[in-house]
Amino acid sequence: MKGLIDTLFEGNNLTNEELKTLIECEDNSIQEEYLFKQADKKRRQTYGNEIYIRGLIEISNYCKNNCLYCGIRCGNLNIERYRLSEKNILDCVSYGYSLGFRTFVMQGGEDLHFSDKDICQIVSKIKKSYPDCAVTLSIGEKDKQTYQDFFNAGADRYLLRHETAIEEHYKLLHPSAMKIEKRKQCLFDLKEIGFQVGSGFMVGSPFQTSENIIADLRFLQELQPDMIGIGPFIPHIDTPFRDKAQGDLHKTLRLVAILRLMFPYSLIPSTTALGSIAENGRELGLQVGANVVMPNLSPTNVRKLYNLYNNKAFVGKEAIEGLEELKAQVKSLGYEIVISRGDAKRNDK
Ligand code: SAH
Repeated sequence: MKGLIDTLFEGNNLTNEELKTLIECEDNSIQEEYLFKQADKKRRQTYGNEIYIRGLIEISNYCKNNCLYCGIRCGNLNIERYRLSEKNILDCVSYGYSLGFRTFVMQGGEDLHFSDKDICQIVSKIKKSYPDCAVTLSIGEKDKQTYQDFFNAGADRYLLRHETAIEEHYKLLHPSAMKIEKRKQCLFDLKEIGFQVGSGFMVGSPFQTSENIIADLRFLQELQPDMIGIGPFIPHIDTPFRDKAQGDLHKTLRLVAILRLMFPYSLIPSTTALGSIAENGRELGLQVGANVVMPNLSPTNVRKLYNLYNNKAFVGKEAIEGLEELKAQVKSLGYEIVISRGDAKRNDK
C-alpha cells in the first residue's frame, strides 16, 4: 500500500482497484498513518502551513428541492423557515471583515424569493465596499445566463457539490425531477464562465459503494475544480433517511488525504459535518490535508434553523465567536490562520 501512496504523491494516477484499496484501508493502521502523513507533506509543499478562513453566511433555509438526505428539503414541514435581508447579510460581512475574513460564502437552499437581481445587487454591494474580498455563492442550480450575471456582478467562486457522480446512485438520493446531467452541466457552465468552482460529495451517503466514490474521484479529475468539499453523511430526523447510518470518520479522513494527493492545489475545507461527528473532527481534517475552515458567520438567532442534519455544530470553534480559540488551536497543530482571500495556487491557469 505504501507504493500506491507514493505513486499518488508523485502525481501519478492509480487504477480503480488501487484507489479502492486506499479507500478501504484499515482504520488506525500503519498504512493509514502513512497516507495521512504524506497528505500533510503534500499540503505543506503547496500551501505551507497556511489555513484560509471563509465567513459562511447561511442566507435562507427555504428550498424548492426535496433531496432525500437534507433537513431543509421542501417536504420537511417541521422546520421554521427564515431568510436574511440584504441588510442582515451586509451586516454579517462588515462584522466578518473587521475580524479578518476576506472571503464570504453566501449559502442557502434554492429559495425562489431571492431573484437573480437581488443576488447580483448584494454581491456587487459587497464587492464595492470590500474590493479586497472574494465572494462565493452556493445557492444551487441556475441557468448559464444567471451564473454569468452573478459573475458580472462580481462573484468570484461558486460551490455546488455534485453529490454523487453515478446516475443510479444520484436517483436514490434525489427526487426524479433532479438530474445528475443537469448538475454536471451547471458545474461545467460555471467553469467556462470563469468562476473558481467547488464540488464534492458526502461520504457514507445511503447506498454509496466504493465504486461510487471512485466515480466521484474520476468526475473530479474531469472537472478539475479549485475547491473540493466532502463531509460525512449525517441523518436528519425529518427526512426519509432518518434511520440510515452516519458516514464514517476514518473513511472521510482517508478521502480528504486522497483528495489532497490527487489535487495538490485544491482548497479543501475541514467541514462542519466532519466537526459535527467527532469532537476533534475539524482538527483531524486539517492534519490530513484540508486547508480551509468555514466558521459560521450567520446571525446567531438563525443558526440552529439551517439544519441540514441533526447535531450540527454551530457554536464555539465552528462559529465566529470561537475565532480566537480556533486560531490558537490551529497554531498548536503547527498551522496558521492567515488574513487572505486564499485563492487556489494552481499552476495550470
Ligand atoms: N442549496 C445549496 C446548498 C446545499 S447545502 C446547493 O445546492 O449547493 C450544502 C451541502 O450540504 C450539500 O451539498 C450536501 O452535500 C450537504 N448536506 C446536505 N444534507 C446533508 C446531510 N444530511 N449530511 C451531511 N451533509 C449534508
